[in-house]
Amino acid sequence: MSAYPKIELHVHLEGAVSPELLFAAARRNGCALPFDSVEALRDFMRFRDFDHFIEAWLATTTVLRSAEDYRELVLDYARRAQAQGAVYVEGIFSPTERLPLGVSMQENFEGFCDGVQAAREQLGIEVRLTPDITRFVELEVACELAEWCVRYRDRGIVGLGLGGPEVGYPPEPYARAFEIARAGGIASVPHAGETEGPSSIRGALDALHADRIRHGVRAVDDPGLLRELADRRIVLDVCVISNVCLGVAPSVAAHPLPALLAAGIPCTVNTDDPTFFDCELEAEHAAARSLGADPRALFEAGIAGALCDEATKDTLRAVGAAHDWSAAAGVPS
Ligand SMILES: [Zn+2]
Repeated sequence: MSAYPKIELHVHLEGAVSPELLFAAARRNGCALPFDSVEALRDFMRFRDFDHFIEAWLATTTVLRSAEDYRELVLDYARRAQAQGAVYVEGIFSPTERLPLGVSMQENFEGFCDGVQAAREQLGIEVRLTPDITRFVELEVACELAEWCVRYRDRGIVGLGLGGPEVGYPPEPYARAFEIARAGGIASVPHAGETEGPSSIRGALDALHADRIRHGVRAVDDPGLLRELADRRIVLDVCVISNVCLGVAPSVAAHPLPALLAAGIPCTVNTDDPTFFDCELEAEHAAARSLGADPRALFEAGIAGALCDEATKDTLRAVGAAHDWSAAAGVPS
């Protein structure tokens, strides 16, 4: 049923870390984790709200500190996503959070970009990277990250994002970092409209010139914005299970995906942080299909939103054209 090709555009690679890799990295790097078993980790990952999630994120993912950790992260997630039908993945990483720990930008970029190469050589899957500015960092640090993105453009960096707590941190102050990225051929893919409303999406579009919006589900609160997103064919990275785990949507059944699709907005579905939300790509797709999403339309929105070169997009189009989608449609049992 779900063995159809998939494109994933929104996965935080640190948030996709397997428990094994997390424990191994903590040991290697001499860091303590707030749990000592896989069962305790599951308990730890039951979130009250977005702030609690950020707290848990910082207490865990900061044990990943070496280029080797990052290379492994990419390769391990690419392998798991591929087993779930992924043929193309855009992964996020958040290097600015680890600067105060003494982990350099170079350590981050070398490791994650090595992972892209390893995924291609060992697995035959194309991965691209879109690092996030974490919303509370200084503008200077954000601009520095934009420059690193430009420098590593030939090694798989295709976009610059904006992540972390959305409430209290509007997009506008980071406009200069996104200008640096754009001038260097790097696209703009900020988080917006997840825990904040339409004004955050408006800021991402106008001040950051977003090529795609991560989440954007709160656009349903503003009919004019919905129409604009549809008219401009702005692709949304929708993450149904993440939204339910963090209380952005009350349940899968009440998720706004059907309203976004009905408005004519191209939507993809994505895991966001699979380890934290205990979801994998197939579970995310099953949730989206239960809301009426069509697998082929999700794939086509993935191609439209992907930030890779045209030759890679052509390969993805050929994968879509060669697949018999008739078996993939409809609501799962
Ligand atoms: Zn995200």
